[in-house]
Amino acid sequence: MSLIAVGTMAFDAIETPFGKTDKIIGGSATYVAYAASNFVKPVQQISIVGYDYPKEEMEDLKKRGVQLEGVEMVTDKKSFFWSGRYHEDMNSRDTLITDLNVLADFNPKVPDSYQGAEFLMLGNLSPDVQLSVIKQLKTRPKLIVMDTMNFWMEIAMDGLKEVLKQVDMLMVNDAEARQLTGEYSIVKAAKKILTMGPKYLIIKKGEHGALLFDNDSVFYAPALPLEEVFDPTGAGDTFAGGFIGHLAKTGDISFENMKRAIIVGSAMASFCVEKFGPTRLKEITKADITERIQEFKDLVSFEIELG
Ligand code: AMP
Repeated sequence: MSLIAVGTMAFDAIETPFGKTDKIIGGSATYVAYAASNFVKPVQQISIVGYDYPKEEMEDLKKRGVQLEGVEMVTDKKSFFWSGRYHEDMNSRDTLITDLNVLADFNPKVPDSYQGAEFLMLGNLSPDVQLSVIKQLKTRPKLIVMDTMNFWMEIAMDGLKEVLKQVDMLMVNDAEARQLTGEYSIVKAAKKILTMGPKYLIIKKGEHGALLFDNDSVFYAPALPLEEVFDPTGAGDTFAGGFIGHLAKTGDISFENMKRAIIVGSAMASFCVEKFGPTRLKEITKADITERIQEFKDLVSFEIELG
């Protein structure tokens, strides 16, 4: 089943306690595509890049079954640029620079060939762009998942709430869930978000795993305890790509299957953090992914006699 992935294709400059990069490839849609293409083809990308975006990166994505017809190329502007610095704990970060560049006046056009996609991943991007993509789709996808971040809550909260009304699932981290609702308790925040539009909610807690909510149930997936986390950039988007990639592969959007998908997403995210940028995601094989999912199974399965 096909998947549309909307988001940024960007340059990032990252500082962690372990090192610093110059401009490297990043962007929410880049990470979603690298993760999801392990499970579903085609991934139909919607994004925008400037004249500085390397052609080889486009070719790498194409080789993985990512369609780029929906990626606009602007010849007189630079690509989106983001720079961030991670704190000692690697779980939180400060944004140092967000240069919208080409993103400032992005009007996405959904190609005809993308119509009919069953899954839509609205990666972290301006709510206006997210909404415009939903509106252009002639048939509503079976599942629409939306990611966002504090940046958009600060400058476009009203638009963000409009998009929320149109989606089936929201994915945010704990700080964003609190910012969106004004509730400190994650459970109270979840209840509030589930009245704002989405039927499902995932709250990511970095190295402490992720929670999946619907109105009746909660499921918890841990993150793999890794000895070294090198660079968490893109972990959230990679998680999203693995999650929706698994759902699109199986075509099953039941809560039970979402539990499996959240483990797949967590496994993909655990690779992402092992090297700077999407480097590790480009290296891994199907066998590496299977092995890692097995590690998750072993991590959480136990037997107990009750009564
Ligand atoms: P994550 O670590 O999963 O939150 O994703 C980080 C990626 O999101 C980086 O590669 C950035 O290029 C991209 N990014 C950062 N800020 C924004 C923003 N305001 N809108 C869209 N993408 C962003």
